[in-house]
Amino acid sequence: MGRGSAVYRRLMLALFGNRLVERLVTRFGARLASRFVAGEDRTSALLMVQRLNRIGISATLDHLGESVRSLNAAAGFREEYLRLLDGIRLQKARSTVSVKPTQMGLALDPECCLRNVRQIAERARKAGTSVCLDMEDSRYTEATLDLVRQLREEGFANVTTVLQSYLFRSEQDAARLLQEGIALRLVKGAYQEKKEIAFANSEDILLQLHKLIRLHLDSGAFVAIGSHDDRVIGEVRSYAERTGIDRSLFEFQMLYGLRMEEQAKLAGLGYQVRCYVPYGRQWYPYFTRRLAEKPGNLWLVVRNLFR
Ligand SMILES: Cc1cc2nc3c(=O)[nH]c(=O)nc-3n(C[C@H](O)[C@H](O)[C@H](O)COP(=O)(O)OP(=O)(O)OC[C@H]3O[C@@H](n4cnc5c(N)ncnc54)[C@H](O)[C@@H]3O)c2cc1C
Repeated sequence: MGRGSAVYRRLMLALFGNRLVERLVTRFGARLASRFVAGEDRTSALLMVQRLNRIGISATLDHLGESVRSLNAAAGFREEYLRLLDGIRLQKARSTVSVKPTQMGLALDPECCLRNVRQIAERARKAGTSVCLDMEDSRYTEATLDLVRQLREEGFANVTTVLQSYLFRSEQDAARLLQEGIALRLVKGAYQEKKEIAFANSEDILLQLHKLIRLHLDSGAFVAIGSHDDRVIGEVRSYAERTGIDRSLFEFQMLYGLRMEEQAKLAGLGYQVRCYVPYGRQWYPYFTRRLAEKPGNLWLVVRNLFR
């Protein structure tokens, strides 16, 4: 990450971490967040998936909320995912779901979290779709991988996860997960990590991402690439072209509200594209992470207010 962007990111994260700012932004309402969030309820989210599917884009739905403070709250989130999966099945939507392990209680009780995710994986199987466990900050990396492995051992081939290229450990994790046949979404990483465990420089993060992507493409295993970066998208396209890798073996994933035209363009060119569609009332942490990512996102939100 360049020095300027690192300072911007730290500044934004500090600003949005302030309780008063949080109260003000939340009160301003969902209109602010609507640039990046499909709506506050399931119906709006499923409607958005329908629209995306119509233009050849698949989806992955994320019911927003993280770091629950009670197991009751985690059970509530689990129930929402079960209803969401019923909606996906009834609507015959082309959509998977993405779940944050801490929303399912990982930080409070890993066993309970496992039970919650297992129920979601079962319902997803019934709906003919899969569950991706999003990767949160490094305190949860090991526990998230344990969860996926455990469910895999129980026969849930429809549970996948994410690796972040900024973490030093990801190269080893990728090689092992590849052997275990666990499908991955590869991303750069969105959290603030210590320099002892993660690359801080954007070139190093990009290099490691390219390395992880090639590892997967060369192996013939399916891989999802979560990035809006033209250097990443371009590299995947040209590498696949050069080496004759079939387009069914990878997909591009981007976030709802970002580079929507590029998403439609890639889908039009015959690439598999999946849009990550968040919805729900607890949009604040997700929304502020997007704003902290780059100044351009702040501008998108301001423009959205005056539309
Ligand atoms: C589908 C998906 C799922 C994700 N899941 C996780 C997860 O589970 N865990 C996690 O830690 N992180 C996750 N992330 C976030 C990810 O780790 C990065 O923080 C985020 O994607 C920013 O990196 P980037 O490669 O998209 O672009 P950046 O590194 O932010 O930007 C690099 C360059 O890309 C171009 N670019 C970026 N955004 C835009 C834009 N909006 N318009 C035009 N050009 C742009 C610009 O040229 C920019 O300079 C996910 C991201 C996606 C897309």
